[in-house]
Amino acid sequence: MHIAAPNETLMARRARLLGPAYRLFYEEPLHIVRGEGAWLYDADGRRYLDAYNNVASVGHCHPHVVDAIARQAAVLNTHTRYLHEGILDYADRLLATMPAEIGHTIFTCTGSEANDLAMRIARACTGNDGLIVTRFAYHGVTESIATASPALGQYITLGNHVRTVAAPDSYRIPPERLGAVFADGVRAAIEDLRAHGMRPAALLVDTVFSSDGIYLDPPGFLREAVEAVRAAGGLFIADEVQPGLGRTGDACWGFQRHGLVPDLVTMGKPMGNGHPLAGLAVRPEVLAPFARQCRYFNTFGGNPVSVAAGMAVLDVIEREQLRANVRQVGEHLRARLRQLATRHPRIGDVRGAGLFVGVELVDDAAGTPATALAQRIVNGMRRRGVLLNATGPDVNILKIRPPMVFSMAQADLLTDTLDAVMNEVAGR
Ligand code: PMP
Repeated sequence: MHIAAPNETLMARRARLLGPAYRLFYEEPLHIVRGEGAWLYDADGRRYLDAYNNVASVGHCHPHVVDAIARQAAVLNTHTRYLHEGILDYADRLLATMPAEIGHTIFTCTGSEANDLAMRIARACTGNDGLIVTRFAYHGVTESIATASPALGQYITLGNHVRTVAAPDSYRIPPERLGAVFADGVRAAIEDLRAHGMRPAALLVDTVFSSDGIYLDPPGFLREAVEAVRAAGGLFIADEVQPGLGRTGDACWGFQRHGLVPDLVTMGKPMGNGHPLAGLAVRPEVLAPFARQCRYFNTFGGNPVSVAAGMAVLDVIEREQLRANVRQVGEHLRARLRQLATRHPRIGDVRGAGLFVGVELVDDAAGTPATALAQRIVNGMRRRGVLLNATGPDVNILKIRPPMVFSMAQADLLTDTLDAVMNEVAGR
């Protein structure tokens, strides 16, 4: 029998081998060895409810996806400079989920690469350089995208061409004003670019604003900002790495909630259920100028095994009617969390759509961010076997984003555990 190394041993090995840039989750790090559905199992066989991972979109190790990967890996895996039907069938199916104006798709391995490429395409198309993102945005790890990802912290120097706008804080700004306030920020950013001799190539936003604090309502609030950037000659890039493939329950993509047709859509995380599959979708006229100047090749992006995984994920979402599940379980979860809020005044706001839920924790009626409390709750939940985390610039917003197969009973378990942890933390 294999005896697992103690966590302390693994942590010491990690520090020695991987160096200090990596970070682990939780005060007591987890050593996960197996996953199934929304459950994760640690090396001692203890089970944890995964309320955090949207990468395992159709559930950890879904047998249909595992089988598709294994079958294709046993036949052929190569790059995309040979003819192959797999990539075309998947592209067809993916583009069928998009508005008709979006006609091409390009595959990468990560969301970061997709955003990086989207920026290059936007620059070639507009002839402009400027990039507008939200104040606590995260879009990835490449040099050009990290310098447009203020969530990476104070040691990231934003690019000279990057401007940030305040996130659309739906908790603090009334819904009827949210769209105008956000658009005012975008217009001010455009003005500032102009003052420095630049014009915007794009407004790049995560359409659920996950690192900024999870803002999805009211539907449509993004429209005015997108109109403003287009009027200034820029494009709208919808970063769908987080909401993509039905997480919000109402549509396949987050931009659809806002009634928008983006110029470019970037995507990743949930596409391969853990297999590295990402990419972008684009209007043909937006891609054309880039393609005239440049060719595109990505050794691993869109390989036959990856697209088989992607195809299988789409199969499962359809067959298991996961979008309906996301809608129903998400509504139930938010209703239960709102009940909790009536008994726990430190819950300032419960928001989100489908299975992307934010619970904003506050210290007082004025809404002061409860950063320390959030940390205690995240770690308390982990000790009781439920995995979630916190987000936002003050890290005070619980981020709940389970696999789309999350059940009603699992939503109840999460809420009951949160109730117990909040009582414990409050000393009740
Ligand atoms: N965009 C958003 C909104 C993300 O959340 C992430 C990853 N957390 C990325 C892009 C980058 O994706 P990847 O880690 O696959 O490079």
